[in-house]
Amino acid sequence: KSQGKGRHVIYTEQMDQRTAELSRLAADLRTALDTEQLHLLYQPIVTMPDGELFGVEALVRWTHPERGPIGPGVFIPAAESTGLIVPLGAWILEQACRQAVRWQHELGDAAPRTVTVNVSARQLREAGFAGEVDTILRRTGLAAPTLTVEVTETAVFDGGTALDELRAIAALGVKIALDDFGTGHSSLGLLRTCPADILKVDKSFVDDITANSQQAVVAAALIGICQGMNLRAVAEGVETAEQAAELHRLGYRFAQGYFYARPLPPEAVAAYHPAFSLNHISA
Ligand code: C2E
Ligand code: MG
Ligand code: MG
Ligand code: MG
Repeated sequence: KSQGKGRHVIYTEQMDQRTAELSRLAADLRTALDTEQLHLLYQPIVTMPDGELFGVEALVRWTHPERGPIGPGVFIPAAESTGLIVPLGAWILEQACRQAVRWQHELGDAAPRTVTVNVSARQLREAGFAGEVDTILRRTGLAAPTLTVEVTETAVFDGGTALDELRAIAALGVKIALDDFGTGHSSLGLLRTCPADILKVDKSFVDDITANSQQAVVAAALIGICQGMNLRAVAEGVETAEQAAELHRLGYRFAQGYFYARPLPPEAVAAYHPAFSLNHISA
């Protein structure tokens, strides 16, 4: 009995510690927004088989003054639970749009054709988010079809006004991508109700793709659905030439992953050249 009680105390202390840790992170993040501790990296999304740059996904990075780099997997949830994701997300969106315009001036036809920004459920629930996207596009001068907003299935399923907001964003001409597809409580029915243009097939289906696994069967089914519904399929987390070759064989034409490129600073995106094309693998 006393052990049980003791456990209970420890559990509560851990919860308190976690809550304290989250609010400390959130407080530091508030400062970070004003003091240039945050920056964006951009991971190439490439066409297969040639490996040429098609677009990029913006991924936020935080260098904490004392703690060093903190990953978005840690601080985005903290920002979501405190609501800080709303101003942070707006900042990210504006940075990415500005960078997209900069690349267009710098690179012309060679600029990324689409810039993808992750948007969290909390942002979508915020009334007037679509209006804010519109304002940012106008302010930065980026054409709406060059922007892709990436949301998870769970965010759209969140109910409330998320789906309305997403439809309003789509009505601006912005493209909509469903992130980590297949990992949430996804229903294929979502593809009918949600204005999706792009489906990002989660890394978990790519990892085992060469092993004749259940995941490979799902990856094959998803490309069929995308072709039938006129959605662009992007395979996430491609790490090896074998995975890329198998995805291509299944009909995938867009991929993202360390095999092609890690998330890069803007200058490195401008200098991107395909190091690995599937052409030279089969040759
Ligand atoms: P995500 O949107 O699914 O992004 C893909 C994540 O997988 C990124 O991690 C990327 O660096 C990583 N990745 C890409 N290719 C590979 C690969 O071949 N192998 C492996 N092992 N990993 C790969 P990152 O940058 O740490 O971001 C993690 C998550 O944090 C993102 O998952 C996204 O949900 C969230 N996130 C990142 N940036 C933002 C942002 O600006 N706003 C919001 N709301 N969320 C963000
Ligand atoms: Mg994403
Ligand atoms: Mg993803
Ligand atoms: Mg993923």
